Amino acid sequence: MSTPQGHHFLQIPGPSPVPERVLQAMHKQIIDHRGPEFARLGRDVLAGCQAIFQTGNPVIIYPSSGTGAWEAAIVNTLSPGDKVLMVETGHFATLWQKMAARFGLEVDFIRGDWRHGVDPAAIEAKLAEDATRAIKAVMVVHNETSTGVLSRIADIRAAMDRADHPALLLVDTISSLGSADYRHDEWGVDVTVSCSQKGLMLPPGLGFNAISDKALEASRHNTMPRSYWDWQEMLKPNANGFFPSTPATSLLYGLRESIAMLLEEGLERVFTRHRRLAAATRAAVNAWGLEILCLEPAEYSPVLTAVIMPAGHDADAFRKIVLERYNMSLGSGLSRVAGKVFRIGHLGECNELTLLGALTGVELGLAAAGVPHRPGGVAAAMANLAGRNADPAVP
Ligand SMILES: *Cc1c(COP(=O)(O)O)cnc(C)c1O
Repeated sequence: MSTPQGHHFLQIPGPSPVPERVLQAMHKQIIDHRGPEFARLGRDVLAGCQAIFQTGNPVIIYPSSGTGAWEAAIVNTLSPGDKVLMVETGHFATLWQKMAARFGLEVDFIRGDWRHGVDPAAIEAKLAEDATRAIKAVMVVHNETSTGVLSRIADIRAAMDRADHPALLLVDTISSLGSADYRHDEWGVDVTVSCSQKGLMLPPGLGFNAISDKALEASRHNTMPRSYWDWQEMLKPNANGFFPSTPATSLLYGLRESIAMLLEEGLERVFTRHRRLAAATRAAVNAWGLEILCLEPAEYSPVLTAVIMPAGHDADAFRKIVLERYNMSLGSGLSRVAGKVFRIGHLGECNELTLLGALTGVELGLAAAGVPHRPGGVAAAMANLAGRNADPAVP
């Protein structure tokens, strides 16, 4: 294999490329995490996170992957033996379900075809059936990164309210936060789980829990053992901008910068930009004559697009050619769809030209790999982008 030349296109749906501004902001000497300079940083990022999660309640920041933040949401709110309702939207929902089972939760896992999001009516029906109110939590993935399907959280909340059921709502926004519209308070979410390396445009290493008053109350009575993940241990020092153990200082410098970038652009514009890039990507896929994995237009992900490989062609062989010839990483198919789909990430620091470069790499790769397709996907994406109103706020 020859040495790759030029810019590497990291077009997987997380980790996403880290903007130069964020890299520069992290390039700083470590400071005393018990001193006054750190307290300012701590206060800035804790307040900034509230703006990003759209909540007036505290947001917990852990040095961890997203998987750690999943665990934190479980151990702070639930007790062994509790019944929870989850939905098989794809690989990540399945992993979270396995984790819940390992913690001794009794999971009612609504099966899915990996091509649709959570059906709010199915949630409503399950909750309405639950006369004894045994279900303690509904746990769903907002953006299912393995399939490119975005579930409608506000509609799920409305379904729970119609069933008049007291279950907590726990939502994984690991790949959606900072890219897709998300409102912790307005949508009545109890725990929002997220992490740093996707829409927040940071390196991996920070996990988040945004929590409601109801979740905080549940954490005072639940019996799941925890220590490192304990919210109360975090909230006490957080009140003054500090952390109970050594925080990931460099990542917090980066977080302060990435929050500033998102707020400077404006969250609405950030979300609109992602929807615009996703629509252009779908225009390309349609022009190639390939199939998008997500079957429900109202659930198309603004974060990534998963594309089905024509039968008899291996998605991973195609991805290997794209990497070796064009220095671009595309997302693989995970577990059930391994080798059958590839995923184009269009999240974080992505703009029109980045996207068109990525789509060009896909189109060249399809030809190089001998995958049957029609040419003209890039042209269709360009036409899609150019066909919009000149106002970039128009999706
Ligand atoms: C990436 C991802 C995870 C796992 O996050 P890690 O940081 O790899 O632990 C969980 N859920 C979703 C939806 C994801 O996209």
